[in-house]
Amino acid sequence: MIRRERHEVWMRRALSVASSSPRDVPVGAVVLDPDGGELSAAGNERELTGDPTAHAEILALRRAAAVRGEWRLDGCTLVVTLEPCTMCAGALVLARVGTLVFGAWEPKTGAVGSLWDTVRDPRLNHRAEVYGGVLEAECARLMRGFFR
Ligand SMILES: [Zn+2]
Repeated sequence: MIRRERHEVWMRRALSVASSSPRDVPVGAVVLDPDGGELSAAGNERELTGDPTAHAEILALRRAAAVRGEWRLDGCTLVVTLEPCTMCAGALVLARVGTLVFGAWEPKTGAVGSLWDTVRDPRLNHRAEVYGGVLEAECARLMRGFFR
């Protein structure tokens, strides 16, 4: 499979977990190991748990680290339906995630090119490879549907 097709397969999986909690903003995240095997998946659980940090990416990173038994996620890929915020972009840098794949752009809070570019800041000691706009239309439609 070529890279773009692989990213789309993973994004469809992220889309499928995005609506797991009906009251939460539908964002889905998946973490893949270096061989492309799924380590974890999560939706946004901020409303469900009352935890301001329970964004899909944070939960997926925590679960992936638990599966691997270590905090370093070198060579792993984080796939998420929406451009990460500053918290999540910071967390994926701290986890040493190798590749970030995201769907829709988030001009109001995005920290991977929209407002900031945390994951590719040359001042940090780790930078992720980034692929944005994967299945962008479907990811954006999901968000629009929720806020309508
Ligand atoms: Zn976030």
